[in-house]
Amino acid sequence: MKISVDYEKCTGLGICESLAPDVFEVDDSGALVLLKESLSDEEREAVEAAVAACPTEALRLHSVVTTPSVARP
Ligand code: SF4
Repeated sequence: MKISVDYEKCTGLGICESLAPDVFEVDDSGALVLLKESLSDEEREAVEAAVAACPTEALRLHSVVTTPSVARP
């Protein structure tokens, strides 16, 4: 699985970071940093929870076969 972030939607509140700190980090300027794009099976459950919890629906999970490039502003 891979993850992508719509930086136009992300508000940097960090709910994703609290649920999956190995994958997401909000830096000092409030910008979301994706620490990794490809996920292990162990990380997937936490990331799925983060995707579901994101209030702005900025996160998307993709299967590796159909993954588009990560959207950047
Ligand atoms: S939970 Fe959503 S809006 Fe908040 S920092 Fe993560 S991606 Fe951005």
